[in-house]
Amino acid sequence: MRRILLSEKDLPKQWYNIQADMPKLPPPPLNPQTKRPISADDLKVIFPMSLIEQEVSTQRWIDIPDEVLNIYASFRPTPLYRAVGLEKALGTPAKIYFKHEGFGPAGSHKTNTSIPQAYYNKKEGIKRIATETGAGQWGSALALAGTLMGIEITVYMVRISYDQKPYRRIMMETWGAKVYPSPSDRTEAGRRILKENPEHPGTLGIAISEAVEDAATNKDTNYALGSVLNHVLLHQTVIGLECKRQLEIVGDYPDVVIGCCGGGSNLGGISFPFLYDKINGKDVRVVAVEPSSCPTLTKGEFRYDYGDTAGLTPFLMMYTLGHDFVPPGIHAGGLRYHGDSPLVSQLCHDGLIEARAVGQTAVFESAILFARTEGIIPAPESAHAIKVAIYEAIKAKEEGKERVILFNLSGIGFLDLPSYEAYLSGKLTDFEYPDEKIRESLCRLPEIRI
Ligand SMILES: *Cc1c(COP(=O)(O)O)cnc(C)c1O
Repeated sequence: MRRILLSEKDLPKQWYNIQADMPKLPPPPLNPQTKRPISADDLKVIFPMSLIEQEVSTQRWIDIPDEVLNIYASFRPTPLYRAVGLEKALGTPAKIYFKHEGFGPAGSHKTNTSIPQAYYNKKEGIKRIATETGAGQWGSALALAGTLMGIEITVYMVRISYDQKPYRRIMMETWGAKVYPSPSDRTEAGRRILKENPEHPGTLGIAISEAVEDAATNKDTNYALGSVLNHVLLHQTVIGLECKRQLEIVGDYPDVVIGCCGGGSNLGGISFPFLYDKINGKDVRVVAVEPSSCPTLTKGEFRYDYGDTAGLTPFLMMYTLGHDFVPPGIHAGGLRYHGDSPLVSQLCHDGLIEARAVGQTAVFESAILFARTEGIIPAPESAHAIKVAIYEAIKAKEEGKERVILFNLSGIGFLDLPSYEAYLSGKLTDFEYPDEKIRESLCRLPEIRI
């Protein structure tokens, strides 16, 4: 079967919470000032109570509210595809499956969490949500959720993306959100940075500082994060739960589950339901793929760090490159984050998730092959997962093994066409670290010849 579909009645009714089953839970988030474990009261300033409860819950299954299911149903369950064209081009005995999360109106998996986040805020009487966006996918997912749930959205958009990706901004504005380039003069954090450098290109860390400050200083305003936090990864598990049922239909089970990893949410979403099996003895590998220019899991340190640049967010235990790390301006904007989800970090640390870093020219080479064999133009972020899926398929061919490979297509690339143009015209290069030691130690995959 090439396209494996579920019907609306097969939508998962509960999210899977991996905190119930992890061999070791991450150490608690700390208050950024006192360095003591953070309390619900600290978080109440910027988050609704239901999400704070989900953040710390160790209950295995959490009900999805009917109002959320109702909106999920407008684009879920998403199809699972067998990549027959790609398999043929590679001449691999492996079966390659991919979950198409670019199906929703915003074009990425991020609506799986923006919808419940908008819902819980609205239900608890909040009028407005402030957030940040890098490449614009999270901002557009939240803008969409805001208009469907009836809650105002303010987006601080990393300036370099604001300037380079006007279509994302227009999408957000079409759905009724207010969008400001960050650093902006609307917050203390933004003004401080603009004073030092009026031309600052912005980072996700700075934009987070601005949105958190906006939420903390306005009573009817909360904050929402599109990745990293436990409740975000929880909401994304609909991806993996659907995949499991879809693979059952064709009688397959993956040997390896692959996802690109920026803050860890689409990877967590597709893999956690399979990690449940792994924790219970099943033989399945999970691979996180990140850009070699922002190698958080492969080259970062496992320690407490801030989620943002100004140090306003909780101190989280995670793999980090340092909260002041400014990654180079690669095309996969959604993967430019200095840290990673504490859940994914802990699972990586404990050997349940493997990590790989890949360079962007190799990523685009894979994206092009995928587009020319499957027809779908992937988001540059998702193409990181494609690169490693291709690598695994070639390895299976070399070893003569009929493996089952599953990867997440986290989004489509219609608004990333300028990066395709850069690649096709030979202008795209791999970022090279000035520091030779870092460069040499980067965990790169061997080049794949196709
Ligand atoms: C945001 C985004 C990512 C990276 O975020 P994760 O939380 O790591 O999933 C990956 N792919 C797409 C299409 C995105 O929009």
